[in-house]
Amino acid sequence: MHSQHSDGSLSPHELLTLALERQVDQIAITDHDTISAYAELADSPVAEHADLKLIPGCEFSCLWSGRNIHVVGLNLDLQDSGLTQAMEVQASARADRAQSIANILERKGFKGTLQGAQANAAGGTIGRPHFAQYLIDAGYVKNMKQAFKQYLGAGKPGDVKANWPDLERACDWIRGAGGIAVLAHPMKYGITLTKLRKLCDEFSAVGGQGLEVISGAQDPVKTSTLATLATDFGFYASTGSDFHRPGQPWAELGKVPALPVSCTPIWQCWP
Ligand code: AMP
Ligand code: MN
Repeated sequence: MHSQHSDGSLSPHELLTLALERQVDQIAITDHDTISAYAELADSPVAEHADLKLIPGCEFSCLWSGRNIHVVGLNLDLQDSGLTQAMEVQASARADRAQSIANILERKGFKGTLQGAQANAAGGTIGRPHFAQYLIDAGYVKNMKQAFKQYLGAGKPGDVKANWPDLERACDWIRGAGGIAVLAHPMKYGITLTKLRKLCDEFSAVGGQGLEVISGAQDPVKTSTLATLATDFGFYASTGSDFHRPGQPWAELGKVPALPVSCTPIWQCWP
């Protein structure tokens, strides 16, 4: 799930409090390309709560075959120096990309987009949803859907090909920090099953060990396809709500379907 440190609406503390209320027993905050939420939780009693295990994580933006692919690192050693460097690399790639997106949007006649997006990011990592929100608030588009469909979504002018790492580099960072690399929301990339198998194959070859078999309130047919993929490639199965904010259409925090029994749950990897 995501906090205000990237494009989520809740603070890390609010996320944990909500998870406890919903009787979730373990969670990972996986902000886009940052682990700064964990620093904010350093003195928080909820982060040490006996009923809620917090698995340190991060969602890495990557490039594969010209596409933006997300790899979640779970159970990371947040003190690892390679991870610290990785966060600097990703922050710099994000800052450069934000400038490029802003330039493109300015050329389309939209004013003040970088400052607007930065204000929406409020010190967290800056992403396309922050630009989308600015376009809405400035009256340039009606809603998020339109902002992505016309300007920011895959293949649109604002979908700038950032200098994201390849899968191997992201997996090296994750494994170097003692974590497990998980291919996030595999059904959201809009690729064929043949291509998805190729992605799984290459991900496995560079050290990927997990597949997000459940991502939000997902069609059971997709779940069963992903469970088969997990078995075929020997991936641990992960479950994610991809929670960004209360009321989001795809899943509420903690309200995710169970893993199929054929899967090996990723949480077996930590005590
Ligand atoms: P970024 O990290 O800047 O690449 O932005 C990725 C985030 O944008 C995703 O995690 C989603 O939250 C959001 N997003 C991507 N595509 C769409 C879409 N079509 N509609 C709404 N939000 C989207
Ligand atoms: Mn993602």
